[in-house]
Amino acid sequence: METDLTSEYIQTVQQRTQTLYQTTQTAAHESPHLMLGCLEELQSALEELHVAEEELRQQNKSLLSAQRTIEAERQRYQELFEFAPDAYVVTDLYGTVLEANRAAIELFNVPYRHLIQNSLVSFVHKEQRSAFRGLLSQLLTIHRVQEWEVTMCGQDTHSIDSAITVETVRDFQGKAIALRWLIRDVTARKQSEAQLHKLQLQNLELTEIDRLKDQFMATISHELRTPMNAILGFSHLLLKRVSTMEDSTLACMADRIVCNSQHLLTLIEELLDFSKLKAKKLQLRMTELDLLKVADETAQELRHFAEQKGIALNLDSAQQALPIVSDPVRLRQIMTNLLSNAIKFTEAGQVTLGVWGLPAGRVLIVVQDTGIGIDPADQERIFQEFWQVNQTSTRLNGGTGLGLAIVRSLVELMQGSLSIESQVGRGTTFRIELPRQLKY
Ligand code: ADP
Repeated sequence: METDLTSEYIQTVQQRTQTLYQTTQTAAHESPHLMLGCLEELQSALEELHVAEEELRQQNKSLLSAQRTIEAERQRYQELFEFAPDAYVVTDLYGTVLEANRAAIELFNVPYRHLIQNSLVSFVHKEQRSAFRGLLSQLLTIHRVQEWEVTMCGQDTHSIDSAITVETVRDFQGKAIALRWLIRDVTARKQSEAQLHKLQLQNLELTEIDRLKDQFMATISHELRTPMNAILGFSHLLLKRVSTMEDSTLACMADRIVCNSQHLLTLIEELLDFSKLKAKKLQLRMTELDLLKVADETAQELRHFAEQKGIALNLDSAQQALPIVSDPVRLRQIMTNLLSNAIKFTEAGQVTLGVWGLPAGRVLIVVQDTGIGIDPADQERIFQEFWQVNQTSTRLNGGTGLGLAIVRSLVELMQGSLSIESQVGRGTTFRIELPRQLKY
């Protein structure tokens, strides 16, 4: 606009100069002072021309700087396009490739010249080409499609799971002139989704297997318990009879049958209890009881095992009685499991069972030994079912690895808490806090 005005202005000055020139020629002889006037006029026209020239220079300067900015912008866009991490392609409205960046060339694994002027459809998996053509034909009306999943294939025909975003490029009048495609390789994402799906299925299968295992454990231990009770009963009878006979070998064999049957029955009972606890089917039979009395009876029952190993089993309490409402059978089971472990894993020193009243309607049961102790790394794991710290030493000592898992589940059922403190080579202390009465 400004340039038009300047050229108009220069034209006017030229015309005026021309007129002056002609006037000067005709008037030169007749009137010299007219000539002087003309020269002055010419002078001012020349000055105006200078001004116009200066203005032109300024405009030229601004134009040059604008051109440089545009060039820098173009360069920046080109670099962004060229080095974008995702594949970018520009096609005409029929899908013929006009431009493609490096990522696109890498994605399709073809030389640039094979991509340019080629149809983008030819890089789409055969089975999806007609759907792709359908998309192409709709683009003029819908303008943009986002994250459309399509399988593409490169030169070596390997499949590329892609998510395509495409939009129309328009001229300044709004007319669609090209299509800009962003092709994102989602093969890795697809693979991890498939992997995740597989893992979820496996997880479901494992849960089902776990459920079947629990069910099997419950059924089998239930089925074994009745014959095992019969075997134990009959072997007791047998032992009674053969112990009156002269043959000590027979008595010894009958005694071993009784011991082993008893052991097997305990194991079956543990399995059954654990199955019930896991299935949340174990019911507590609550009654008023004296915790101190239950503790004393349990200690008495196990004392001879401790004495057989030459260690003392002490009962420790400041109270005369500790009345609570709980399930005596399950309380005894908790104390028996902890005490038999303490005796099992102690070679010298003593095992102590302590029961104490605590403020806020709670009681404390402590089982302490001076045995082998448990490494900190194993202290959480020992509560997992079938987990044993050291298979060799435990095998010598016997056990199923269910004792502590049962203790933990029972304590939870009784709304209590359980903690352990242990030092390798120095001994272990288990602490259980229970409410004197359960809250429902
Ligand atoms: P187990 O039938 O093997 O005794 P538990 O669940 O009762 O099963 O115990 C799990 C493991 O924890 C034991 O095998 C043993 O390695 C460890 N453990 C339990 N109590 C003690 C303890 N008082 N001292 C040392 N180790 C213990």
